[in-house]
Amino acid sequence: MKITQIVSDELDSNVFVCQNEKLTFIVDCGATLDKVREAAKGKVSAVFLTHGHYDHAKYALEYAKSFGCKIYANKNITEILPDPAKNYGENFSIQDFSDFIFLEGDGSVVIDGQQIKYFHCPGHSKCCTCFLIDDDFFTGDVLFAQGIGRTDLFGGSKAQMLASLQKLQNVPFERAHSGHGADSSKTEQEKNIKVFLRFLSR
Ligand SMILES: [Zn+2]
Repeated sequence: MKITQIVSDELDSNVFVCQNEKLTFIVDCGATLDKVREAAKGKVSAVFLTHGHYDHAKYALEYAKSFGCKIYANKNITEILPDPAKNYGENFSIQDFSDFIFLEGDGSVVIDGQQIKYFHCPGHSKCCTCFLIDDDFFTGDVLFAQGIGRTDLFGGSKAQMLASLQKLQNVPFERAHSGHGADSSKTEQEKNIKVFLRFLSR
């Protein structure tokens, strides 16, 4: 799979434009539409949102309208996107969810013949979801190359983050693509997760 990483102007969040022979999809929406269009070069089948913080969700509706595709996100995002006090965007609010397809818990969807598995991983936010496509894992603000997402924002929870990390230990991936910063390998993440499991268990 060809993955183009775009670093946005919104807290340097990552947007990933991913293409294989079956489909093109986008993970997160913090970068302006022109940058994403340039990387996508044509049809986009789906947009996936790792969570509802504004730096990841800001241009979601613009992408969906422009590409004529749906936005896949955990259902708890309906609590976060309408309210700038919960999504942390100044004057940023999404009230219309007609372009969304809501996910619950863990599961999988098939889009254009491609299976995409999703894992609900609350802790940083109630709606955090990680997406596994083949062996590429899109972790949003749950896992960073060295670190995990903060748990002190609205809806954050150390206990839930601990449970999410325990779950993520068992996901078979080769490369993690985080919501901010660089990619990391499975080996690097095994180490990273272990450190924070210990830290959060105290
Ligand atoms: Zn976040």
